[in-house]
Amino acid sequence: MRKRINRKRVLREIVSTMESALSGGQRTDEAQRRVELARRLSMKSRVRIPRNLKHFVCHGCKGALIPGVTATFRIRPRRETHTAATCLRCGHINRRPLRKA
Ligand SMILES: [Zn+2]
Repeated sequence: MRKRINRKRVLREIVSTMESALSGGQRTDEAQRRVELARRLSMKSRVRIPRNLKHFVCHGCKGALIPGVTATFRIRPRRETHTAATCLRCGHINRRPLRKA
């Protein structure tokens, strides 16, 4: 039985699935489906979703965080400067510190 998975290929598939989910315009149900697909693929293959894309998945409901559609993104200067993405489906606030360039 061949169980070796091609991580590079899977990663590319995850990235393209995530990107198509986030650039899908107003079709939130389709975006939702693709994010779920990418997550399932990621877990099954144990290939991580890249950090920059993972930020667009809600920690609360695992839904797609599409700026202005399913989430609001704000940059907050309090404490450490961070982005706060509020999920409009479940209300969870996804915070991520901003790195200095
Ligand atoms: Zn959520």
